[in-house]
Amino acid sequence: MSIYVTRPSVPDINEYLEEIRPIFETRILTNMGPEYLKLKKQLTAYLGVPELSMFVNGHMALEMAIQALGLRDTGGEVITTPFTFISTTNAIARNGLKPVFCDVKPDDYTMDPEKLEALITEKTVAILPVHVYGNLCDVDAIDAIAKKHRLKVIYDAAHAFGVRYRGVGAGNFGDMSMFSFHATKVFNTIEGGAVAFRDPAYREKLHELKNYGIHGEDVTDIGPNAKMDEFRAAMGVCNLRHVNEAIAARRAVCEAYFRRLSGVPGLRLCPTQDGVEPNYAYMPLRVDPERFGRSRDQVFDALKAEDIHARKYFYPATNEMSCYASLRDACPTPVAASLSRQIMCLPLYEGLTDAEVERICDVILAKG
Ligand SMILES: *Cc1c(COP(=O)(O)O)cnc(C)c1O
Repeated sequence: MSIYVTRPSVPDINEYLEEIRPIFETRILTNMGPEYLKLKKQLTAYLGVPELSMFVNGHMALEMAIQALGLRDTGGEVITTPFTFISTTNAIARNGLKPVFCDVKPDDYTMDPEKLEALITEKTVAILPVHVYGNLCDVDAIDAIAKKHRLKVIYDAAHAFGVRYRGVGAGNFGDMSMFSFHATKVFNTIEGGAVAFRDPAYREKLHELKNYGIHGEDVTDIGPNAKMDEFRAAMGVCNLRHVNEAIAARRAVCEAYFRRLSGVPGLRLCPTQDGVEPNYAYMPLRVDPERFGRSRDQVFDALKAEDIHARKYFYPATNEMSCYASLRDACPTPVAASLSRQIMCLPLYEGLTDAEVERICDVILAKG
């Protein structure tokens, strides 16, 4: 049987039908109705954040976060990392800003704060680091550098749903954090996303921006339509009831992988970070071709031949994509370039059996 990298969480169909039944009576299908407000309240509590605004998807949430901070079309530079999903870099460029690439740390693959300050120029307006695989960025160092240089910080927390650092939710750092509720993430609303923030001044701004920027009868800031509808919100309400079980199930799968793969020369699994309560969102495996004897691509292909579909997250690095070719040489990121050639994410979801994990590990460890 085919094994894919993930399998989206869904509630029991009857639970979902119960949740959407009132929508057919009220005919409130979208525009921040009762299901939206219910989910917003529950998620604000679950994520432990002061304020939350929900969107049609994580990408639009990130674009709106940048715009709400007043950075759109200022022509400024935003320092980010290339070892991420293309959405991060596109959100900067689509706001008329220039992505400047900072390299990542070889241990947890997040922005290297030691390389950050040298990239700051008089054009820099913000820092956009990524909590990649749910690994928390060095938020203390990054937020301190940002404060010193008076820069905005927006965290791409798409992978960090439910992650806590010293008991504090991952959405509490910087000026804003974006969460993705895409089908493939730990928690999903089918498609969906949110911006967490502290300053209530952004509440109305984000609310207006997702609705074309309409402010009373006027429009002052040009926005798209990026609202989350009631059916997606209802899916979120249902999935949120089970998310702790889903995370516990993921943890058991990760532990099964660790039992087989940790300590194997040339293989590296992502260790949990000090003070961080993880969410087991991804199972990144780094393959050192010299020490392991086979490359990431060879292991990936061996899995594929057995109908097991890992994913090369994140290859190519975003600064290797043709659309960003002109920016590549300005700030080289050798660690990210090497990681993107050595890492893949193994199948991980609630319901992946121990036997399947064993089968996957057998293929990885088989001497080809
Ligand atoms: C999924 C993801 C996004 C975009 O979220 P969508 O909800 O799919 O639009 C952004 N950044 C990262 C790192 C992601 O993995």
